[in-house]
Amino acid sequence: MPSATVEDYIKHIYLASEKQRGSEVPMGQIAEALGVVPGTATTMMKALSDAGLVRYAPRVGVELTDPGNRLALHVLRRHRLIEQFLVEVVGLDWSEVHEEAEQLEHVVSDLLLDRIDALLGHPTEDPHGDPIPSATGEFDRGRLESLVECPLDSEVIVARISDQDTEFLNYISRSGLNPGVSLVVEQRSLSAESVGLRLVDGGSSGVTLSLGLGAAAKILVRV
Ligand SMILES: [Zn+2]
Repeated sequence: MPSATVEDYIKHIYLASEKQRGSEVPMGQIAEALGVVPGTATTMMKALSDAGLVRYAPRVGVELTDPGNRLALHVLRRHRLIEQFLVEVVGLDWSEVHEEAEQLEHVVSDLLLDRIDALLGHPTEDPHGDPIPSATGEFDRGRLESLVECPLDSEVIVARISDQDTEFLNYISRSGLNPGVSLVVEQRSLSAESVGLRLVDGGSSGVTLSLGLGAAAKILVRV
C-alpha cells in the first residue's frame, strides 16, 4: 500500500489538474499545495515517475498515468466517504470534517470503507457536495455554476463549496449556505464586486445576504 505522502501527492496532482481541465500541473503549484519547497516536490516526482504513477517533464509539469489516476480516485473516495460518515453518523458539523478526513483517508481499510459505504446507503456526494467516486472510480461530475454566473431571480440549490479552508467553510455554514439549501440571486454588481441573494427554504428562509465576488465564485449551485 502506498505511503500517506505518496497518496497526498497523487491526490493534489489530481485536484490541481481537475481545476485546470487536464493539462500538466506546474511543480510550484504542487509544492504550494503540499507546503514543501519546490526541490522536495521535484525529488518526489522522480520517485512517483519511477513507480509509474506520474509522467513528469522538468519545467513543464506533471500529469497522472492511468494507475496514478486510479489511486487518486481511490484516495478521494476514502476521503469523501469518511467526511460523509463523520457528518451523518458521528454528528460533526460539515464545516469541520475535512481536517479529520485528511488523516483518516490514509489508514482506513477497504473492508471498513465498504461497510461505511453500505451503512450510508452508497452516497454519491460528500457533505461539501463533491462527488464520491465509486469503488471502480466512476462518478457523476454534473454541471454546476457559481453564484457569479448562475441566472438571476430563479431558484438554485447550493451543490458544492469549492474551498476546503475551515475558516471559509465556517463562515459559509454560519451564513446558512449549506449544500442542499435553495436560494435566489437577486442582484449582482460587477462594479461593486458584490452578489446579493435571498435564502428560500430551511430555518433561515427570507434571510438576505451580500457576498463578495471572490466568495460567490466558490459557491457552486445546481440550476
Ligand atoms: Zn475534505
